[in-house]
Amino acid sequence: MTSLAGSQVAGSDVNIKKDMIITIDGPSGAGKSTIAKMLAGEAGFTYIDSGAIYRGIAYAYRNRENNETIGELLPLISLTFEFGENTRVLLGELDISDGIRLPEISLLASSLSQDRSVRDYANAIQRRLGGRGRVVLEGRDTGSVVFPDADIKFYLDAGADERAGRRHLELSAKGSREAMKTVKEEMEKRDKNDSERAIAPLVIPDGAIYVDTTGIGPEEVLKTIMGHIEKRNAGK
Ligand code: C5P
Repeated sequence: MTSLAGSQVAGSDVNIKKDMIITIDGPSGAGKSTIAKMLAGEAGFTYIDSGAIYRGIAYAYRNRENNETIGELLPLISLTFEFGENTRVLLGELDISDGIRLPEISLLASSLSQDRSVRDYANAIQRRLGGRGRVVLEGRDTGSVVFPDADIKFYLDAGADERAGRRHLELSAKGSREAMKTVKEEMEKRDKNDSERAIAPLVIPDGAIYVDTTGIGPEEVLKTIMGHIEKRNAGK
């Protein structure tokens, strides 16, 4: 996707092409959502939190009434996703935007995400919403599987302790009282599932730019990422 027309980013002189597809992958707690949200805000793009799709499916599965298998359930569920600064997820009429963030849903999402039909369902939504560009997608396989030809791909990473610390802070801010140790164990379990699964495992996508965010604040990470986008747009 290329366009000569660019949008001048507020507060900086970085030129972001209007129809870009930008992907950000990495393990949990690497800072993907914070950065994806900031970047989308700066560029005037839509932020697509692909994890919310897996979480929405997990929530629906957990609350199913007739013990359907995941394959049986998927065609029956009515999930609506509104992507923007704050992701909104509806199951039928029910707003499950907060419910999908619960730790038990994180683990269930990670285990269901190994299923081919779940991934196909999530990929179709991402491709439908992101195919025309002006998007920042964030997840585990957005640059390796969903949009392998994205204009620019990033892989964000950080040390395990720091990632667990960030996740703990995020959960505490939402009222969770889970101990740091539990949060770290849950995170490690999820990372293991996500990296070792047979279909679309978490990998550094071909051609992705690796950014280590250990000890670096969001503003600084954003600056680094914008610098790479600028270089890419300038053909360097
Ligand atoms: O990013 P988030 O923590 O919300 O993702 C929840 C789970 O959804 C992940 O642990 C992973 O198993 C799954 N996921 C995935 N592929 C993506 C995004 C999320 O498998 N692109």
